[in-house]
Amino acid sequence: MPSAVENVSKYLERIEKDKTNSFIEINKDAIRDAKAVDKKPKKGKLAGLAIAIKSNINVRGLHATCASKTLESYVAGYDATVIERIKREDGVIIGMTNMDEFACGSSGETSAFGHTENPAAKGRIPGGSSSGSATSIAANLCDISLGSDTGGSIRNPASHCGVVGFKPTYGLVPRYGLIDLAMSLDQIGPFARDVKGAATMLEVISGFNVKEGTTLKANNGYAKNLNPDISGYKIGVVEEFERLTDHKITKEIDKSIKKLENKGAEIVEVSLPNLEAGLPTYYLTVFVEFFSATRKFDGRRYGKKIEDVCGREVLRRILLGKYISQKEFTGKYYKKALQFRSLIKAEVLEALKDVDVIAGPTVPKLPHKLGGEIKDPLVMYAYDVLTVPANLAGIPAGVIKAGEVEGVPVGLQIQGKPLGEQKILNVMQAFEGAAK
Ligand code: GLN
Repeated sequence: MPSAVENVSKYLERIEKDKTNSFIEINKDAIRDAKAVDKKPKKGKLAGLAIAIKSNINVRGLHATCASKTLESYVAGYDATVIERIKREDGVIIGMTNMDEFACGSSGETSAFGHTENPAAKGRIPGGSSSGSATSIAANLCDISLGSDTGGSIRNPASHCGVVGFKPTYGLVPRYGLIDLAMSLDQIGPFARDVKGAATMLEVISGFNVKEGTTLKANNGYAKNLNPDISGYKIGVVEEFERLTDHKITKEIDKSIKKLENKGAEIVEVSLPNLEAGLPTYYLTVFVEFFSATRKFDGRRYGKKIEDVCGREVLRRILLGKYISQKEFTGKYYKKALQFRSLIKAEVLEALKDVDVIAGPTVPKLPHKLGGEIKDPLVMYAYDVLTVPANLAGIPAGVIKAGEVEGVPVGLQIQGKPLGEQKILNVMQAFEGAAK
């Protein structure tokens, strides 16, 4: 094992030469922090690992800009709960990663600090919104990173960059210190190069937090309990996925599912009849909650009024959220979205009732080319059709590289029951073993 200082220095040197624009800010005290870890006689679970953090999570003394001009000069005065936990286990924060502005996007193109490059598929978007958290793993610029996932923002870039990403059950990981996109959907989760790394980070950050009302009392030692023996597991495959997904991606996913079958799992067909209704349900919810969350950026506290400096997508969401909120006394949109959310949640839980996990694709199409900006927001939103149901239902979901299509990575998505993270991680590890 290299010392913390050796490990962190190695990554700092690589970051200096990096061309992916994965980082918005480097922690100038990273070496000092690594030295402190090296001095400890007894070290924690993340001893000396270099950890990158999405720029919407508060890390004391570093900028939490959300990749927006709105918060350009905002320096966090405290550590989010997940950061306290990482530091307690001796992880070294190496820097803050690039992202879509305020986590609104699936491409990594809307950052006020320039787009992020995909090291695994040159010339293509890396996905988003946790773009830099995924690319910093793919480009080998850190050991583990944190992202946030409201409708797919961990799983989408994990898929496009060929790395492991995990969105936990809603409430498993404290959100205290995360700048919200939509608070009823947001979850923080890890990226790593292997399942063990993601499981270790999940183990560190999950569990009850007295500072907030929505955390759950759960954490079963995910890394310690990893077990790739999945014989006897029932894996659901969803018939509706195929119709929505590029057939080349489906072919790759089918091959992956076959590998899981060869590992002793039983494949069972299940159905999600209202899968497509997830998108409008998700976006209506996000517009309203995001509008509300942005009212504090009125210029009095953080210097700049969000509407004056933000990009097009953020402004679109604020205006739509305002409109929908005004119409709300007649229950026109938001109330309907809430009703649909209940329906989708019930369907997802029903599909999971008789299986251990559901396996399928993560993103229905390949990432578009950089520079070929998508102007129609609905086309952009369609990237999320396979990831939003997990957020609407509050269930956990992990992504691992299935294979490649035209040289571009595609991710296998494994979804599980509420608090069913261990089984998902086990299936992912079984797959990791089969892929090698
Ligand atoms: N692409 C989705 C959106 O733009 C998801 C974002 C996220 O998960 N943060 O809302």
